[in-house]
Order: sequence, then C-alpha cells, then structure tokens
Amino acid sequence: MPDVTTEANIDAVALAIREARSVVVLTGAGISTESGIPDFRGPDGVWTRNPEAERTATIQHYVANRDHRVRSWAGRAGSAMHNAEPNAGHYALTALEGKGGLDTLVTQNIDGLHHAAGTSPERIIEIHGTVRDYACLGCSDRGPIEVVLERVRNGDEDPHCESCGGLLKSATISFGQALIAEDLERAQLAAAGCDLFLAIGTSLTVYPVAALPEIAIQYGARLIILNAQETPYDGLAAAILRDGIGEVLPKIVERV
Ligand code: NAD
Repeated sequence: MPDVTTEANIDAVALAIREARSVVVLTGAGISTESGIPDFRGPDGVWTRNPEAERTATIQHYVANRDHRVRSWAGRAGSAMHNAEPNAGHYALTALEGKGGLDTLVTQNIDGLHHAAGTSPERIIEIHGTVRDYACLGCSDRGPIEVVLERVRNGDEDPHCESCGGLLKSATISFGQALIAEDLERAQLAAAGCDLFLAIGTSLTVYPVAALPEIAIQYGARLIILNAQETPYDGLAAAILRDGIGEVLPKIVERV
C-alpha cells in the first residue's frame, strides 16, 4: 500500500490532478481542524474525548429530549463554528477551482467554510447540511440561523417554528435523518463521472458518503487520500498523504 509524504509524491499528486479530465473532492472534518473546529474521530476529536456524545447525536434524541435541545441551542449560540475562518486547505481548493481543476466539491462539513473561502456555491454539495441555516422539523420553513440564535440569546431556550409550532434545529443532517436525495444523487453522479477522486480530511466511515470513493473506483477513477489517520479505503488508493492538510494541499495546488 502506498504511504507517501515526500516532495516527489506531492509532485505526483499534482500531476495526477493536471492530467485528470474531472476531479471530485470529498472533504471531512479534518480540513477544518486547522480552523479550530475539532473533528469527531481524530486524536482530539469530540467523540474520541467523549464517546457518550456520539450516542446522543441522533435526531431521535434531539426530538425526544428538551434538555438536549436547550443544550444544543446554547452551544450553537456560543459555538466556535460560527466564528471560525477558512484556513489554507479551504483556500487551496478555491485556488484549484480557479485553475480549472475542480469539478465538484462534496463536503461532509457543516461549517460553511468552503463557501467562506470563495469556492463557487454551484460546485459545493453540503451533503450533511449547514449550521449557517435553521430548519423546521415540522414544515419547510428555513432561514439564516442568526434569526433563531437571536431568539435564544433573548431567552427562548428551546425555540419553536413561528409558522407551524414545530421543533427548530440547525439545517444539518443528524444521524437517523435522511440525506437530501437530490444532493446524494448529485454527489454519486459526480463520483461516477470523475477520473480522479480526492478524499481529504475524512475517516471515510460515515455512510452513504463513505461509499463515494468506492463508486468512483468502480467507474474507473483513481483515488487519492489526504488524511492523517488510516481509512478503510487506504488499500484502494493510488496515493496517500498523511501530512497536515493546511501544509500539503497548498503545495499540491501550487504545482497543478
Ligand atoms: P472524522 O472526525 O471521522 O475524521 C476526520 C479525519 O481527519 C480523521 O481521520 C483525522 O485523522 C483527520 N485529520 C484531522 N485533522 C487533520 C489535518 N489537519 N490534516 C490531515 N488529517 C487530519 O470526520 P468525517 O470523516 O468528516 O466524519 C465526521 C462527521 O462529522 C461528518 O459527517 C461531518 O458532518 C461531521 N463534522 C463536521 C465538522 C465540521 O463541519 N467542521 C466537525 C466535526 C464533525
């Protein structure tokens, strides 16, 4: 299995991008750790430090448990995610798009940092939603989360929908909630249609997104992984880089 970190391998990955007809990038929480947002399963991950948090991260728990919702809204109101800035990794992907080297960016991240870094919204699929918006679980009401956070700051601990009275939540997909079918289909079609698939900062363990590299490979694409820890797909990758994303990704993109 290739396990590469050298300058020569950075060149090889840049060459693979240059030669590709269509590049699809999948990002995960690892691209945002350098913006101060912890991942889930890395050494300092939220769930590595507090395994109980994984058990309660379901839509069923959110709906059934008022205390959990109150804690969630209080957490959102003061969350690092809302104040985080994009880092060199996010900007490198924007630069890659500028060089014509990015077809579709599928992100599992809910932090909105690819948009903040200037990647074109039409190329981004936020497959697990976004914390920048709220959504009502009872009707189709949705809007900027700031509107609801203002209500929370003014004392509404468990805000409900002003249209239908339903529960409000950030517009993110929790475990137990279905993905948006059109988003998943678009991501799967992009994976099937590309000839190079880059998986960046993801443990590749959350399905169905984690199946995207497999789809890409089945349709003939090469897989390149940039991730500090091992993933279940390492054995299928043409190249693996374990360096910090903010360090290695700009170097790759510079050489494209
Ligand atoms: P994960 O936590 O399962 O895996 C992240 C991977 O990134 C780990 O293997 C870790 O070793 C690697 N990593 C962390 N920092 C790195 C760095 N600087 N350089 C190289 N590698 C680095 O994350 P996942 O696969 O995205 O799945 C977790 C789920 O959690 C996703 O569905 C996502 O929606 C959600 N999540 C999102 C955020 C965010 O929006 N920033 C943060 C935490 C979790």
